Order: sequence, then structure tokens, then C-alpha cells
Amino acid sequence: MKIRNRGKREYLTAALAILAVICLLAGSLGTGPTPAYVRAAGKKTKTVKWNTKWKYADKSAIHSGKAKLYYAQKKRKDKVVCINAGHGTKGGAGVKTLCHPDGSAKVTSGSTAKGAKKATAVAYGTTMEDGTPEYKVTLKLALVLKDKLLAAGYDVLMIREKDDVQLDNIARTVMANNNADCHIALHYDSTKKDKGAFYMSVPKVDSYRKMEPVASNWKSHEKLGKALIKGLKEKKVKIFSNGAMAMDLTQTSYSTIPSVDLEVGDRASDYSEKTLKRLADGIVAGVEEFF
Ligand SMILES: [Zn+2]
Repeated sequence: MKIRNRGKREYLTAALAILAVICLLAGSLGTGPTPAYVRAAGKKTKTVKWNTKWKYADKSAIHSGKAKLYYAQKKRKDKVVCINAGHGTKGGAGVKTLCHPDGSAKVTSGSTAKGAKKATAVAYGTTMEDGTPEYKVTLKLALVLKDKLLAAGYDVLMIREKDDVQLDNIARTVMANNNADCHIALHYDSTKKDKGAFYMSVPKVDSYRKMEPVASNWKSHEKLGKALIKGLKEKKVKIFSNGAMAMDLTQTSYSTIPSVDLEVGDRASDYSEKTLKRLADGIVAGVEEFF
């Protein structure tokens, strides 16, 4: 009886040792814990609902809407790209939220003036020269981009797939923070010059770059922005100036993952199917460059 017990114990010790070696080997190969979205990838889609426990969730005013996660079915990259079609929240312009999580004031002037502590939860957006609202065009581009990203093997978190989703800028950002590996918001600028594409870069203001979560993430926002401009350039998309404009945005101020607002054109820019496809090809090339 005694001998048999010792045999069992030795067997158990040997098994544990082998298991430990396997774990060490797996660790050295870079296989860490598998994220939930990768484990669930057998499915085609997943509905993403609001979670009040998420960081900064309490700062959002509009969040009754849902987002949808699409899983790539081939050439899987195991990366989730959040595509946020700018604007498109009915009533969003009449509600205010804090510009920064710590309640501090905006450091640059854009659609919200420098010094303001609150901004509209989601602005209405601009209007294309033919009278089409920006939110309809960003949605068109988002839908073209979704298919191209999926074909390239990226999972896609779609913030909005209709003209309206009840998710404000903070809610969109927090959803991306908790369900994606990077966040790209699509916009058209309010000028009428067809001046080309650019990304909203992180302002070189010390207090802003030292404020969390900006402090821990601004370098990755810049890296993503530069990669997207490089990808767009490769596909012969016109680029404005050096491809960047510094702006203190709500999105940037709440992002804990690489995140940019990408202005793909302005009110005078063409948005035919052909142009949207080229923009989407450029963005996919930029995403490839980034990862
Ligand atoms: Zn916009």
C-alpha cells in the first residue's frame, strides 16, 4: 500500500514537471493567454453591448446602442480593428460630456473651443458640397472598409452600420478600448478645398501628453496615424500637408488602445464607389503597416 502510494506521487511529480516544461516552451514561443475574441472566432459575429464596469463608462452620456464584432473567416490575423463611422447619433449634438476624463479643459480649438471643459457628446458633422451629410458618407466608407479588412484577415468592430447609433464619442471609444486592438474613426473635414487626407495627431502640449490615458498611449496613436497615411499614400490618395493636424479630441483623450481620427477628405472631396474603394485599400495597407 505504502509503495503504491509513493509510485503514484512520483508519477504525479513527473507529470507536473513535464507540464511545467510545456508551459515554459509555449511561453518562450510567445503564446500568452488567448484573448476572448480569438477564442470566439469560430462564430461570424458577436453583438457588443454596453458595460457599465468598463473604465470611463461613467463619463459617457449616450450608450444604449450596440456595436457588432465581425470575425474574419480566413487568413486570420487575430487582431480586431474598430471602425467608427464618424457622427450619426440622433440627439447627440444636444448633450454634453467631459472633454477629458479628469475634467480639465481642451488644449486646442476645433469644433470645441480651447478652454472648454465640456463638448457635444457627438456632433452632427459637416455636409458634403452636394448636400449629403458627412455621417452618410463616413458610413458608406466604413462598410466598404469592413469587407476589405475582413478579407485581409482582420476582425472588425463596427460601431455603426446604420444612419443612427445611440453611442456617443466616449461610448464608442470605451467600446473600442475593451473590444479592439486599434480604433480608426472616419471623418470628412469642413473645408471646401479637397485638400486631401490627414489624421488628427496628439497636440504637443505638455499637460495634455502627461494626462492619462494620453500619457501611456499617445506614441501608439501617432504610430497608427503615420502608418495609415503611409498606406493611403501607397494607394495614391492625396495627402494634406504632412498628413497630420494636432487636435485635442474626446476620442484621443479617452483611448487606451492605438486610436486615431482619420479625415479622409473634406466637403469638396469625391466619394464615388471607386474613390471609397481606393481609400479603403489605403487604410488596409496602413493597418498592415501598423501591425
Ligand atoms: Zn466628422
